[in-house]
Amino acid sequence: MSKIIDGKVISSRLREEIAREVEQLKKAVGRPPGLSVILVGEDPASQIYVRNKEKTAKELGFKSEVIRFPDTISENDLLRKIEELNNDQSVDGILVQLPLPEHIDEFKVTLTIAPEKDVDGFHPVNMGRLLIGKPYLVPCTPLGIIKMLDYEGIEIEGKKAVIIGRSNIVGKPVAILLLQRNATVTICHSRTRNLPDIVREADILVAAVGKAKFVKGDWIKEGAVVIDVGINRDENGKLVGDVDFEEAQKKASHITPVPGGVGPMTITMLMYNTLQAFKKHVGMEGEQ
Ligand code: NDP
Repeated sequence: MSKIIDGKVISSRLREEIAREVEQLKKAVGRPPGLSVILVGEDPASQIYVRNKEKTAKELGFKSEVIRFPDTISENDLLRKIEELNNDQSVDGILVQLPLPEHIDEFKVTLTIAPEKDVDGFHPVNMGRLLIGKPYLVPCTPLGIIKMLDYEGIEIEGKKAVIIGRSNIVGKPVAILLLQRNATVTICHSRTRNLPDIVREADILVAAVGKAKFVKGDWIKEGAVVIDVGINRDENGKLVGDVDFEEAQKKASHITPVPGGVGPMTITMLMYNTLQAFKKHVGMEGEQ
């Protein structure tokens, strides 16, 4: 039986640390870190995400504001608002909740956010810095995965890591982070051949596919570490990951559950990134 990597426990420890640091810095700097979240439209999932982000930010002592726009806002007006926030000295982090309505170009939006305030880490400058080994703000989910592995004392160096998924927000950046920690990394995707055989070689498996229970128990190598990023509903409407948890936990040494694994870490890393952006903004050294 494997050890469950409890994202809620790790998150709450990290959040305590962040809150303590925010408290100290608030006194030293004279203001709290500021996070501005832009929400366009009424997408129900986005509303929940944004509400959780705002709630967590406030709990940790940040100044947090949610700027809501109807889905009829023009691209120009949205870009103008982002530029205003770029120039606002009380704002350290800017996040535009995705997805955006079709008439708005997401890439243009990402490009408009100042890289030093881009707490999602999606701006090409932040992505490029990550790639060349000079990270500034790193995408939250991949960063949360590395923090979980470190928290559990799981060695990365020299391990064979297999990532299923090559999205810009999860698969690619987590692959780069694992590579920088000296894992030997294989990235798989929908055109990969013999996927189960490749997964069977993984010491560390990261599943970021978006398909319920896609990874079967007999794909898992004995003693592997399994990180399940997926958030899916099964045929009964129950929240499940990309990995068949019941089966995989018989083989894995460590495994993340869904819910309660990677999910809570993502929002915690958003707070972590906002704190790093704040520290850099006020001339203190941030860290990754
Ligand atoms: P995307 O849909 O952007 O990417 C999915 C990836 O899976 C693609 O690279 C795709 O390959 C690959 N894929 C699809 N089908 C197969 C297949 N049959 N075999 C191998 N690879 C396949 O998803 P995201 O990366 O954005 O998210 C992945 C999952 O993680 C989702 O469930 C999402 O909800 C969840 N998520 C969870 C977060 C959290 O905080 N816990 C944060 C972000 C995402 P190809 O590129 O060839 O199409």
